[in-house]
Amino acid sequence: MRAADNTIDAPGAIVLGAGIAGLFTALKLAPFPALIIASGQSGHSGSSVWAQGGIAAAAGPDDSSSLHAQDTVAAAAGIGDSRIAELVAREAPQGIDDLIRFGAQFDREPSGRLSLAREAAHSRARIVHVSGDRAGAAVMAALSAAAATTPSIAIAEGFEALELAVLDGRAIGVFARHGFGRDARLVLFRAPAIVFATGGVGALYAVTTNPLESRGQGVGMAARAGAVIADAEFVQFHPTAIDTGRDPAPLATEALRGEGAVLVDETGRRFMPAIHPAGELAPRDVVARTIHREIARGHRVFLDCRRALGDSFGRRFPTVYATCMNAGIDPAKAPIPVAPAAHYHMGGIASDEYGRSSIAGLWCVGECASTGLHGANRLASNSLAEALVFGARVAADVAGSTIARPREGCAPCGPPRVASALPRALRRTMSLLVGVEREEAELREALGAIQKLEHASGGDATSLNVLATAKLVAAAALQRRESVGAHFRRDYPQASLNPGRSFLTLHEAEVIAAGCDDFVGRSPERKRQ
Ligand SMILES: Cc1cc2nc3c(=O)[nH]c(=O)nc-3n(C[C@H](O)[C@H](O)[C@H](O)COP(=O)(O)OP(=O)(O)OC[C@H]3O[C@@H](n4cnc5c(N)ncnc54)[C@H](O)[C@@H]3O)c2cc1C
Repeated sequence: MRAADNTIDAPGAIVLGAGIAGLFTALKLAPFPALIIASGQSGHSGSSVWAQGGIAAAAGPDDSSSLHAQDTVAAAAGIGDSRIAELVAREAPQGIDDLIRFGAQFDREPSGRLSLAREAAHSRARIVHVSGDRAGAAVMAALSAAAATTPSIAIAEGFEALELAVLDGRAIGVFARHGFGRDARLVLFRAPAIVFATGGVGALYAVTTNPLESRGQGVGMAARAGAVIADAEFVQFHPTAIDTGRDPAPLATEALRGEGAVLVDETGRRFMPAIHPAGELAPRDVVARTIHREIARGHRVFLDCRRALGDSFGRRFPTVYATCMNAGIDPAKAPIPVAPAAHYHMGGIASDEYGRSSIAGLWCVGECASTGLHGANRLASNSLAEALVFGARVAADVAGSTIARPREGCAPCGPPRVASALPRALRRTMSLLVGVEREEAELREALGAIQKLEHASGGDATSLNVLATAKLVAAAALQRRESVGAHFRRDYPQASLNPGRSFLTLHEAEVIAAGCDDFVGRSPERKRQ
């Protein structure tokens, strides 16, 4: 094990991740200093830049935060935290105002009022959007420009964080690697406050809509340092990823079905109306499972937009149109081949209403956090809203805390071993055995495979992080013997009367993986004691 090549002390907060959650938190922290560290390029990395639909906020005259909260709680399938749903619904419009102040330009009505779209399971039109399907790219362009001109923000790009540095039970920094092979440099960044904004876990799966850097490293790092992880089993599969063999799979936004596009098999047969009264607009998990089953029966599935959109497709959904045309499909004239893909992680680092994790000095925000908002199923466009609301809350909490600078040295923590790469076998295992439908024997097999990959990893930090996250997802899925929201067990197809959230540490997941499957996760309050 070698020591870090150098140590960099940041004066305020380290914000790990430069997606919407990281950039927005850093901007809300100003003038409190923030050092943003990201493996990718600020404004161009993570899922944020790919977001299509937009951001949910009760901004219309016929809407209210209580209606938004009600829809969120209903989608969460009994697992969500209604207190958090109310808080996010109440504070989301302020987040939109902040984005406008930071330079984001949303679509507007001729009257000047924000134009609001309606998406599945929202009872009102409340999705703030940009040029139809360009919300993520436009918001990220505005936030990175604002961050670049904010004097309190410094950005270190191209650093992959590998391990949380913890001293006396408190997070004090992150070890991060710059470069590869012989040129690799290991740096210990230290600061009084550490904020994780590392995004989702989609790339743990072979078929995903997420960028390949969304591999759950933040969740894994926090878990390896002892943080409580909540609701890890709830992975949302988007029903309509465009199935042309690209990795990651591009997305055909839900809004297309909102406009009347229908799902058909290779013979043109519509199958959703027989499954759910809302047809193609049934909840996301129902549509994803139905498509999964059609494909498992040997069919191909297509999204047919010809009637609903026809020649207006290119103008109204330019991003999806360009993706299809690049793959040789003209969606105005031919149906689009689709398949479910890992899309969003409702679970993550357990967070309280200020984004505090169970480790002192470590906050979390965005998709890597589990606040309880989404429960078993995320309502479309609520993830960006959550990132804004919690970004502001984390910033206020961090800037308002009096935190001592870390002591010199960081013993007993040691630097991580460095090599890298996402094990391909892991992605296959997760898709096959911890995917849209699950059952006990397969989950046990997955946990066995993850343990073998761990032994083969040689202690490489990246592998240990992603494998820790995968283990938490599989162990939590094994523990939950019921079907609720995005978690479907073939061997337990019913929901319990009173489903609750799950909380696990990595140690508990390891006990489950070792065969002690009657172990019951405890509440985060007890774990904090
Ligand atoms: C195709 C697509 C469309 C979507 N559409 C919508 C939508 O319309 N509305 C909505 O609300 N949600 C949508 N979502 C979900 C939403 O985009 C994400 O939940 C959200 O953008 C996550 O933001 P984030 O800042 O938490 O993470 P990300 O934007 O993923 O950013 C993560 C950051 O962390 C960095 N990072 C990760 N690991 C490390 C590490 N080890 N070291 C250093 N840096 C690291 C990455 O480089 C990146 O900068 C969509 C998702 C996808 C994939």
